Amino acid sequence: MDDSFTLYDLKVEVIASDKPMVCSHKVGDYFLVIGENLVFPENHSFSMYALGALLPLLPAKQRMLHENDWMLSDSIIACPDPNCGARFKITRIGTRKFSHAACTVEAIGKGESS
Ligand SMILES: [Zn+2]
Repeated sequence: MDDSFTLYDLKVEVIASDKPMVCSHKVGDYFLVIGENLVFPENHSFSMYALGALLPLLPAKQRMLHENDWMLSDSIIACPDPNCGARFKITRIGTRKFSHAACTVEAIGKGESS
């Protein structure tokens, strides 16, 4: 039985806005989201406060979404510091197949409600 499913790989990148940045962000700093892993390139840093604001959105952005879902259209996230002009752009950069059995010991379909 094919138990595969597809997730998007993501790139989360620091971009500028018309407000100056207060935190230590640098335009172009980024990390990748590949499956459950965050992949940070060498010599790039990323604010843990910004990461905290971004983390809840990443699993949704990895998944297929309804075309009317705001989570699909909205991809620019503000820094949680209200005085900071940094923005973080989430881009889908590709797809990757995963095996359900390689990700969990739970049975397919378990946990569904009707
Ligand atoms: Zn900031």
